[in-house]
Amino acid sequence: MKKIQMVDLGGQYQGIKDQINQSIETILETSAFINGPDVHAFSRELEDYLGVKHVIPCANGTDALQIAMMGLGLKPGDEVITADFTFAATVEVIALLQLTPVLVDVYPDTFNIDVEAIERAITPKTKAIVPVHLFGQCANMDAIMGLAKKHNLLVIEDNAQAIGADYIFDNGDKQKAGTIGHVGATSFFPSKNLGAYGDGGAIFTNDDDLAHTLRGIVNHGMYERYHHDVVGVNSRLDSIQAAVLRAKLPHLDAYCSRRRNAAEKYSQAFNGVNDVIVPQVVSKCDCELGSCSCHVFHQYTLRITNGKRDALAAHLSEKGIPFGIYYPIPLHKQKAYIDERYNKGDFKVTNQLVDEVISLPMHTELDDEQIEYIVQTIIKFLSK
Ligand SMILES: *Cc1c(COP(=O)(O)O)cnc(C)c1O
Repeated sequence: MKKIQMVDLGGQYQGIKDQINQSIETILETSAFINGPDVHAFSRELEDYLGVKHVIPCANGTDALQIAMMGLGLKPGDEVITADFTFAATVEVIALLQLTPVLVDVYPDTFNIDVEAIERAITPKTKAIVPVHLFGQCANMDAIMGLAKKHNLLVIEDNAQAIGADYIFDNGDKQKAGTIGHVGATSFFPSKNLGAYGDGGAIFTNDDDLAHTLRGIVNHGMYERYHHDVVGVNSRLDSIQAAVLRAKLPHLDAYCSRRRNAAEKYSQAFNGVNDVIVPQVVSKCDCELGSCSCHVFHQYTLRITNGKRDALAAHLSEKGIPFGIYYPIPLHKQKAYIDERYNKGDFKVTNQLVDEVISLPMHTELDDEQIEYIVQTIIKFLSK
């Protein structure tokens, strides 16, 4: 059996090696390291793939979120609602811009932001909602867009973990995750579903004026050379990363379906096993599984109940099976984000999830033998 890895970027590279090497060599030969033709071409190709009017590339996913919030004109003191159970980048940029992060609980089955909790957290100061499509499963965008409309709020999608996912609306319409809100932000960190070979990120929007604003902000607030109209940042996707992403983008759907196939095998094998709750795929997708891709499994995350998670984790380490605990500490308990506005009981689900979740190896190169070994190791341990 091949050595099991959490993410196998080396194996994936072997399949696209010639094209990647050739593209990188062209950049080395032409020295077009910054803003080269690949950056522009990749942005247009990603616009086509996503069906969105504007893709603005930038240096990483954290910058993408920050720049999106700057472009929307959010002001210090504005309240921004996001999930307690996510990677810190989402809340970090809110705080960095002196906006007020307002964390809310998530659903226990999809791990995504709880829409009723959002509604309870809305105050006259609330300006935006940041749903995170966690682990590759879209948040409930029908309900979130409805709430945003009702309360006149902006929606910034953190799409770092769900690029390529289709969201199916209640009326059956389909749209790519990250293109539904006023603006979307994604990351091309190497282990993400569309990963570069270094850092990268992008912002998506269908709003022409906002796109113009964002293009200036990523480039020192310049709309005309050496005229700085707004305070900007320096945040670029470099040409080598754009070339890597161009080589990978045509494979993204196939990569997503390989992840989904691996997830289905895991979930079938764990069916009926005590103390294991498999990740839920939102039901309106179930009927179409195969043709639709509502979950792109950035992570395959189990809940291990009855206090057995840590013992299982220790056992997997002994057996040479990598795993991840995403995320071990709720954001509301992180020193940087403690806030007395929260009440006891506000985060019942997150507080439980942090003790139960465990993410198994998930990548495009996972084979049946590896999945079988992982599954059998877990089942054997839990049945003892
Ligand atoms: C990875 C990630 C980010 C940040 O992306 P970087 O490119 O690492 O800055 C933001 N939000 C979520 C949910 C992520 O998973």
